[in-house]
Amino acid sequence: MVIILKKQITEAQKGAIKEFLKSRSFKVKEIVGQEETIFGAVGINRIDVREVEILEGVAKVIPISKPYKLASRELKKSDTIVEVGKVKIGGQRIAIIAGPCAVESREQIMTIAKQVKESGAVILRGGAFKPRTSPYAFQGLGEEGLKYLKEAGETYDMPVTTEIVNPNDVEMMLPYIDMFQIGARNMQNFELLKAVGQTGKPVLLKRGLAATIEEWLMASEYLMASGCDQIVLCERGIRTYEQATRNTLDISAIPVVQKLTHLPIIGDPSHATGLRDMVSPVSLAIIAAGASGLMVEVHNNPDAAFSDGPQSLFPQQFEKLIRDIQALAPVVGKSLERILPPRAEVEIWGGPALADAESVKIAFQGERGAYSELAIHSLFDDKADALPCRTFREAFDAVAKGEARYGVLPVENTLGGTINETLDLLHSHPNLTVVGEKQIRVIHNLIGLPGSSIQGITKVFSHPQGLAQCEDFLTKELAHAEALPFFDTAGAVAHISQLKNPTYAAIASSVAARYHSMEILKEAIESDSNNFTRFYVICRQEYAEVYRSTAKIDRVAFVFAVKDRPGSLFDVLRILSKYGLNMKKLESRPILGKPWEYSFFVEAEMIEDELFEKATEELIASSASFRILGTFHGDRR
Ligand code: PEP
Ligand code: MN
Repeated sequence: MVIILKKQITEAQKGAIKEFLKSRSFKVKEIVGQEETIFGAVGINRIDVREVEILEGVAKVIPISKPYKLASRELKKSDTIVEVGKVKIGGQRIAIIAGPCAVESREQIMTIAKQVKESGAVILRGGAFKPRTSPYAFQGLGEEGLKYLKEAGETYDMPVTTEIVNPNDVEMMLPYIDMFQIGARNMQNFELLKAVGQTGKPVLLKRGLAATIEEWLMASEYLMASGCDQIVLCERGIRTYEQATRNTLDISAIPVVQKLTHLPIIGDPSHATGLRDMVSPVSLAIIAAGASGLMVEVHNNPDAAFSDGPQSLFPQQFEKLIRDIQALAPVVGKSLERILPPRAEVEIWGGPALADAESVKIAFQGERGAYSELAIHSLFDDKADALPCRTFREAFDAVAKGEARYGVLPVENTLGGTINETLDLLHSHPNLTVVGEKQIRVIHNLIGLPGSSIQGITKVFSHPQGLAQCEDFLTKELAHAEALPFFDTAGAVAHISQLKNPTYAAIASSVAARYHSMEILKEAIESDSNNFTRFYVICRQEYAEVYRSTAKIDRVAFVFAVKDRPGSLFDVLRILSKYGLNMKKLESRPILGKPWEYSFFVEAEMIEDELFEKATEELIASSASFRILGTFHGDRR
C-alpha cells in the first residue's frame, strides 16, 4: 500500500507509523517526492487500511492493485534513475550499452571497447558466462573473461555489465562488474534473482523468451524485495510464430512498461532480430518508442565471432547508428548520455553531490516547468538545482553576481527566430561568456484546470512566442477564446491555477502542467512539429575553462561593430572567408545609446586555435569593436 504522509508530519510520528507497520510484518520504504513524501509498505499480511489511516501524520492510504508492489508506478510516480558507475539510465537520457556478445580474448575486448567508446557507448558489455542452446557451443571465458572486461572498462572509462547464470558466482563476480545482467533464459530463476538482488548492485533484467510483461515485472519485484532498487528492464524480443527474425521485438512493451513501473526500460535490437541489417532500424524504433537506451552487440570481426556474429554490428555501422540516434533524440525530448571527464566541477553537477546543500545553481528565465528548465535538466542532470528568475536580465545578473554558477538562456527558436534580448544582454555583460549549447524540442500543450474542456475556454494565456507557435490551433480550434500574452509559458500555468477559473487555459510544457496539478486538454498543439529552441549556457569567465574542458569546441560566437566607411562590413567578412570561419548565423542589433549604429552578431564553425588567433588579430584591426562571446561545443542534430 501507498501511505501518503501529511506535509507537517514529525519524525516521531514517522517512526511510530514505521513501527506499527513492522509489527504487522510489513517492509517499509520511504520515498521523498517533489510534492509529497510517502511510505511504501509491502507484506504478505492483509490489513484493514483504516487501521493505518487513523495513525497520526497519515494523509491518505492507497492500496496497490498490482501484484508487483515495489516496482509499481502506483507506489512511485517519478521515474527511477539507475546509476551504473558514472552513468545514469532513465529520465531524459538515452544510454547506449555496447560490446561483443562474448569476451573472447583480452585483445578482442580491448579493441571493441575502444571503438564503441569513441562512437558514444557509455557502458561496456561482454559475456563471460554464455547460456548457449547447445552444450557444445562456446560457453564463455569465465573469470578470466571478467578480468579482461574489467580492464577494458577501466582503460576506456566505462562501467561494465555481464551476465550471471549461477547464484554461486555472485561473490566472485562482484569485484569485476558494475551491473549484473540477468539473461532471458534466467528471468524466472528465482534463486538467482534473490542472490543477485541481495547485493544491491544494479541489474539489467532481460525479458524472458516467453514471459508476459506481468511475469517480467514480478521478476523485478523479486530483485526489489531482496534489496535492489537499481533495475533496468530490457526488452529483447519474445518467441512468436514468426521465423524471419530470431525473436519478435515487442515494441509496445516499452510504453506499457513505462505506464506500469517507474523502472527504466531499454531495448536490445541484436537479440530481438538476430540479423545485423535489422539492428539499426529496430534501434531507432526502440528510441522512438521512448526507451531509455539500447544494448547493442558490436564486434570488430563479426564473421569470426565465437557467438552471435550474424547479429553483431561492424564498428562503423555502430558509429552511424549513434549519429542517427543523436538526431532522433530531441524529437522524443531526450539526449544521449555521455561520460564526462572526472573533473571536480563535473562531479558536482554530474553526480549525487547535487543533492547536497552546496549544489551548483543554474539560472533560467521563467517559472518551474519552463522550457528553459527542461533544457537545464537535459543538459546537466535531473537533480540540477535550477534557479527560476523572473526576467532574462535577472537570470544574467544571477550568474554575474555568482548567485548561480551557470545560466541557460534561449537564443533562437526554429519558428520564432532569434531571441534578441539574450544577445543584447550577452553584449552588455563582458564578464560572462558562452560555454555551451543545447537544443530541445518544444512541444506545447493546452492546459486547463482539472475538469475543464476546450469548448468552455474563453481566455488562453502564454508567452507571445508560445501563442505565435500555436497559431493554427488557436485560429482553427480555439477561435472562440481570446489569446492573451503572458511573460512566460510556465508562469501562465501558475497564473490560471491561482485564478481557479475553469474557462481559462494556458499554453506550456507538460512538466508545467504536472507541476501545478493541471490537466492537459490537448497535447502537441504547435503549428509545426519541427519546433526547436536553442539555448546558450553562460557563466563567468573564471568557470569557463572547467566547462569547456569537457567538450570538443567546434563553435565560436562573437560580436563586432564596423567603422563608418564603405566596404567596412565586407572587410570583416573577407577575414572570415580567408580563415575558413564558416558562418552559421549573422544578426545585426542596434547599439544602445548610438542611434542608427549597429553591431553584428556572428556564430561560426571554430578553426584551429593558432589560425583563430591570427584571424582575431585581423578582425580586431578591421572593426570598430570586437568581442568573442564564447566558444563551445555545438549541439548539432
Ligand atoms: C546476451 O545479451 O548476451 C544474451 C544472451 O541475451 P538474452 O539473455 O536476451 O538472450
Ligand atoms: Mn549474444
